[in-house]
Amino acid sequence: MEDKHMLMIPGPTPVPEKVLLAMSKHPIGHRSSDFSEIIAEITENLKWLHQTQNDVLMLTASGTGAMEAGIINFLSPGESVLVGNNGKFGERWGKICRAFGLKVEEITAEWGKPLDSELFRKKLEADSQKKIKAVIITHSETSTGVINPLETINKYVKDHEKALIIVDAVTSLGAINVPIDDWGLDVVGSGSQKGYMIPPGLGFVCVSKKAWEAYETATLPRFYLDLGAYRKATHKNSSPFTPPVNLMYGLQVALQMMKAEGLEKMFIRHRRLTDAARAGIKALGLSLLADDKTTSTAVTAVMSTGVTAESIRATMKRQFDIVIAGGQDHLKGKIFRIGHLGFVSERDILTVIAALESTLITLGDKRVTPGVGVAAASKILGD
Ligand SMILES: *Cc1c(COP(=O)(O)O)cnc(C)c1O
Repeated sequence: MEDKHMLMIPGPTPVPEKVLLAMSKHPIGHRSSDFSEIIAEITENLKWLHQTQNDVLMLTASGTGAMEAGIINFLSPGESVLVGNNGKFGERWGKICRAFGLKVEEITAEWGKPLDSELFRKKLEADSQKKIKAVIITHSETSTGVINPLETINKYVKDHEKALIIVDAVTSLGAINVPIDDWGLDVVGSGSQKGYMIPPGLGFVCVSKKAWEAYETATLPRFYLDLGAYRKATHKNSSPFTPPVNLMYGLQVALQMMKAEGLEKMFIRHRRLTDAARAGIKALGLSLLADDKTTSTAVTAVMSTGVTAESIRATMKRQFDIVIAGGQDHLKGKIFRIGHLGFVSERDILTVIAALESTLITLGDKRVTPGVGVAAASKILGD
């Protein structure tokens, strides 16, 4: 059926009607005073969302662009970085670092398992010459639905004193608590198509005072992504280059909606959606890739047994117009992923679980008793 598309992937995520309508206006001049007022409001609210007094800068880029900016502005060629890699995104930050001639050491974990913070402690404690200039961590690893122990790893980075902590918070910002100032996170990157409830196209980088000090001496080449230019412009409620004006109309409204809900409530909602999804999936006899203690509350990765992940996705799409994500790299065909971050409600989770239940039955999974998935999910939501 036309216009009944339901997007349940970990980005792009659904967009509220109010935001869509806000974007359907004529663009205005990005150097106008009217637009400056919009930037001023957005900047203030972005600081609220990031729980910070640091600069939060907006780039016309996807999340990867935000992370690239967050890496190259604070480092010089040949410097050493320690990168956590337990999935597609952790792997990507290592690749960016190598592309820019940094010396990369990776701490890996099996896909589906969290990074081991002890390994970071040991590496950082052993670095008496303070060669490690940055530690790069993906907080919510979207490829596997695992949350990494950022708070603990960050404590070891703080004990090291010299290294910056650079965080991929692309699927945590707005969904999972990331108290940037309380924890003292130096660089935090995110992207509009995830928890922000707006379409793709904007990247965000939050930069601490310590990171700005590193910026002064960092010599990796930079131009479009030179964050100094964004800082200067943002302080004047402006932007260095033409920003996506209409996307920012949407962002203005999305941030107002987030403020109306409140941070605490947003995090609790994501927790409940996750718990309900997991309960429903388990009741259907499927296994989860991440365990209960280390699950991200933005995305749930499900292992398929018997019925293949790809046939589940195809049936969900064909019969119910629900789009869920597949696995990446070696997990392709082995898992499917349900995104439940941003503009997602309890009703959406019940819909997905009911459709999944029906899909499994259609595909001949004999173990499924009709109604068990929805019953288990409802029980969580009724509490
Ligand atoms: C989506 C995502 C990104 C950014 O991907 P883009 O396609 O560049 O927006 C980075 N990290 C994580 C964990 C993500 O989920």
